[in-house]
Amino acid sequence: MSFLRDTVERMAAYVPGEQPREGARVIKLNTNENPYPPSPRVVQAISAELADAGARLRLYSDPAALSLRDAASDVTGFPVDQILAGNGSDELLSLLMRAVVEPGQIIEYPYPTYVLYETLAEAHGARVRTPNFGRDFALPRELLGSDARIVFIASPNSPSGNAHSLEALDELAASLRHGLLVVDEAYADFTDSSALPLARSRPNVVVLRTLSKSYSLAGMRIGLLFASREIVHGVFKVKDSYNLDRLAIVAGAAALRDDAWMRASAAKIRATRGRLVERLSAHGLDVLPSSANFVFARLPSADLARETYRSLKSRGILVRYFDRPLLDDGLRITVGTDEEISELLEALGSELPRVG
Ligand code: PMP
Repeated sequence: MSFLRDTVERMAAYVPGEQPREGARVIKLNTNENPYPPSPRVVQAISAELADAGARLRLYSDPAALSLRDAASDVTGFPVDQILAGNGSDELLSLLMRAVVEPGQIIEYPYPTYVLYETLAEAHGARVRTPNFGRDFALPRELLGSDARIVFIASPNSPSGNAHSLEALDELAASLRHGLLVVDEAYADFTDSSALPLARSRPNVVVLRTLSKSYSLAGMRIGLLFASREIVHGVFKVKDSYNLDRLAIVAGAAALRDDAWMRASAAKIRATRGRLVERLSAHGLDVLPSSANFVFARLPSADLARETYRSLKSRGILVRYFDRPLLDDGLRITVGTDEEISELLEALGSELPRVG
């Protein structure tokens, strides 16, 4: 006999990318973190919050995270009552599932994409439909007219890196029978398009953003949800009261208010991404065009991809390998600093003559 629910007993746990021990000398290109530090204003804001020997920490944080949402509203032009803050966008995904989907109802997302959608669906007891992407990773036509309660689309998608056009997302949202389109824009600051206008014009569109990637704050756990007032109100009801702590709230507000810092960091990453794609292609790898802070590069076989992953790891360079259908012949490589990418390319150079 198990004390756990059957669904939990059966499901596999989500496996996050490896986090090496603090202080280990590795080049970490496996979980799409930003290689550059956050705005100095973030550290100032955290220090200010810790003033008076931490006296403010005695008090709970603001359940509405209003100063953070105000900053998000100023930066995006979105009304503050149409924004909700989460403990990372992962929490917002989980809250959406809880607020919108009854166990047994259907959710849908194209495969391959962010693996957490599957884990959340399993934990929730939702049924899942997953039409496959084709080689070009355009939105599968089968999604049109879906009767799912939620259709999740990561744009840019992970691990493929491509973004979907506003037109394609609009067409999909318009076609849904009675469900929500959730556009997960974790990587949107590394490209020029965003579905935020759709979250304003269409009541069935939700857009998620995170400060983990472009704002260099993965360790602070800050996500933002943009949607209609009705949805924001409903999702608010199912969240923990104090889902963001005091430091996250002030850090997030300070980061958003220094948008120029984020843009400069994203611009550096985009430039390095261009060089990485060019060099990997020159080595004979099949590299998908990327709108994100990572690239997905295919090798001639799954065995070679696995072997290259292991060999890079033994040299202290971590990239992400997915032992899953349609992905097992590729490596997802986070765009690090120019120096990190040079080291990666050098290490690959000694592997890759066997590839071309
Ligand atoms: N969505 C996608 C597509 C992601 O790749 C990630 C990062 N793992 C997330 C959401 C989660 O981001 P956060 O750190 O805000 O929870």
